[in-house]
Amino acid sequence: CKVIKIGGALIEDGELQNRLCRKFASMSSPFVIVHGGGTFAGQLSERLGIPRKMIDGRRVTDRETLEVTVMVYSGWINKTLVARLQALGVNACGLSGCDLNLVQADRREGRDIDWGYVGDVRQVNMGALELLLQAGVIPVVAPITHDGKGVLLNSNADGIAAAVAETLGRCYDVELIYCFDKKGVLADVGNEDSVISCLTPSLYEEYKGNGVIHSGMIPKLDNAFKSVHNGVRVVRLIHPDDLDQPNAGTRIILEK
Ligand code: ADP
Repeated sequence: CKVIKIGGALIEDGELQNRLCRKFASMSSPFVIVHGGGTFAGQLSERLGIPRKMIDGRRVTDRETLEVTVMVYSGWINKTLVARLQALGVNACGLSGCDLNLVQADRREGRDIDWGYVGDVRQVNMGALELLLQAGVIPVVAPITHDGKGVLLNSNADGIAAAVAETLGRCYDVELIYCFDKKGVLADVGNEDSVISCLTPSLYEEYKGNGVIHSGMIPKLDNAFKSVHNGVRVVRLIHPDDLDQPNAGTRIILEK
């Protein structure tokens, strides 16, 4: 089966999202979708007059921000996506990590910084995923998790996708696909023709070192390499228009 993460930029582009949903509707094997958040939560916070709290350039999820994040991610974004899929005949079911105890996380402990309600994934409920997939349901997972003690947490969608793929990978042949706004990992970010078709750990270190790979791509690739290490058979980064192309984009491979 496939675990497909769809990035924030795709969530914001309605036309791209429609094309993506049509690709999902044409897929024959079972799959799980994990989606990111985009900028809508930030925009809504602004409309509500909730100040953005940043430390060292990173967003802190305080109580009020968590409220908005849960409403936007597991509400508006998740349900819009599910409605679009249902309209195309895909029997999608939207879930956050607390539903069916799908994803539990540990609240992140900062040494000097309190990140607020941010969670690092601890475990994924394999039984819940199997139940849904065997019933022909396509799970659509929002990046909201819980700590198992009643507290919701905001978790990174790339990390959730990796954990879901690794959990399913213990029993099934799994392909983890990160769909985002570029054709793959690029050797020149301004040039879509410069897709790196196979990325090894040493190439990754080199491109990170010279700044070719930067920002959001670094945590994404850290998750991608970890998943290959942990037994996920195929991990690829692609543009959604190439979802039906088996060899498109960048494949993550370990050194021989
Ligand atoms: P997502 O869309 O999944 O939320 P991010 O925005 O976190 O993903 O990361 C994707 C972004 O990473 C791309 O839009 C691009 O701007 C940036 N990026 C940095 N380095 C590269 C690279 N070498 N190749 C492609 N994208 C890169």
